Amino acid sequence: MDLRITEIFLSIQGESSHAGRPCAFVRLTGCPMRCVWCDSEYTFTGGERVSFDEIFAKLEEFGCPLVEVTGGEPLAQKAVFRFITELCDRGYEVLVETGGYVSTDPVDERAKIVLDVKCPASGEAERNHWPNLERLRPDKDEVKFVVADMADWEFAKDIIEKYRLIQNAKEVLVSPVFGVENLPEIAEAVSRSGLKVRLNLQLHKYIWGAETKGV
Ligand code: SF4
Repeated sequence: MDLRITEIFLSIQGESSHAGRPCAFVRLTGCPMRCVWCDSEYTFTGGERVSFDEIFAKLEEFGCPLVEVTGGEPLAQKAVFRFITELCDRGYEVLVETGGYVSTDPVDERAKIVLDVKCPASGEAERNHWPNLERLRPDKDEVKFVVADMADWEFAKDIIEKYRLIQNAKEVLVSPVFGVENLPEIAEAVSRSGLKVRLNLQLHKYIWGAETKGV
């Protein structure tokens, strides 16, 4: 079996409660969404077909116990569900970063989901697959709101309340779009919210810059 892959690399996990940990990334090609602030447009096309065995060999070379399966939208390729299971079978701690459009139901239960909820400024809020929020597990899954402005933050708060995400997810991440001018305003609103949420800055972009790929 194989997957269409854009890049495989070893780096530091830049986001979520796992930020700062060494992490191997398997970035799949393709995404059915078109978020206006997308920082991964280079994954929309191209890539190359890589066999599971070749991917596992590369991961063994890295020797890193934490692996993130990401994209693009990793769950848009059907073979990925089998791939995630085989990663788990090999003893890796597996993170699956998904844009929230595809159902997470078939994902191996040993993998940890980091689920994006698209806010209005993304232009894709209509395409959130809401049942994914009802599947979150409080001991391992995280939910991430990428916010571009205060209207997005208000939207995020409504969804947090509606789906009881503080109780139902391990972490609720509030992730300002990189370079957004009103970052201090968003940070202050988060600090005053009284909510058990985490401001999520993309560590890798501060280390290597926003345009550097493969890090
Ligand atoms: S879901 Fe992710 S990869 Fe797809 S367009 Fe949105 S930000 Fe980009």
